Amino acid sequence: MFVIGCHLSVSKGYLAMAKTATAIGANTFQFFPRNPRGGASKPLDAEDVAGLSAWMEAHDFGPILCHGAYTMNGAAAKAETRDFARRALREDLAKAAALPHCLYNLHPGSHVRQGTEAAIPLIADMLNEAMDQESIPPFVLLETMAGKGTEVGRTFEELAAISDRVERKDRMGVCLDTCHVYDGGYDIVEHLSDVLDEFDRVLGLSRLHAVHLNDDKNPLGSHKDRHEKIGEGTIGTAAMARIINEPRLRDLPFYLETPNELPEYAAEIALLKSLREE
Ligand code: FE
Ligand code: FE
Ligand code: ZN
Repeated sequence: MFVIGCHLSVSKGYLAMAKTATAIGANTFQFFPRNPRGGASKPLDAEDVAGLSAWMEAHDFGPILCHGAYTMNGAAAKAETRDFARRALREDLAKAAALPHCLYNLHPGSHVRQGTEAAIPLIADMLNEAMDQESIPPFVLLETMAGKGTEVGRTFEELAAISDRVERKDRMGVCLDTCHVYDGGYDIVEHLSDVLDEFDRVLGLSRLHAVHLNDDKNPLGSHKDRHEKIGEGTIGTAAMARIINEPRLRDLPFYLETPNELPEYAAEIALLKSLREE
């Protein structure tokens, strides 16, 4: 089954997102569990969650993806910022665990002049603390980053160094963002197979559980992280078709985070479905 969806707003609730997904031809969606710029997390409404479960089952949904706030930085130099990230991650994981078939994705963080070596144990500690509670999602995913500023997680090695320190390896994974890896210097346009070989060698493909499908506004290795609509960027339609049909990726859920409104997302999903081989 081709599992494809896009980022949606949680403002009208969970069942509303699922209905929107179906209306635009999707069978999954991604969402922020709280305001992306931080702030409080609204408690779940049991009736809304039951409605979401029923809808997902009736419409044969793939896993949905909860995306942690960008402001969460477990590697921040300031203790205050780190504490927010730790608290938010614990809460987010409990919330995602209470939703039907929901994975959780987060940006590893930024080392802000402390250096990657100092950041990695801080991020792993945060994960260990948050994943040491009764209910956590089936998988907690670290996102591959573009390497903008002092972002940690541009290389597969950095993601492996964090994951290797996490105790719950059975629940730890990676989400590959096509814009980010390309921007980070991995040539998925000309050498997709080699990049996946390298991912397998460094991290293990069994750790890959989701793909963020985005085109890129900038050339390979730019470290700018500017998403583009599918087919309108430097990755392009032909490479996107190879990505969604690649045997090592095709059974994963794909989430669009392209600069689109709903009608454009619907068109993008239709385009990708037309490019998908049986
Ligand atoms: Fe992200
Ligand atoms: Fe992403
Ligand atoms: Zn991005």
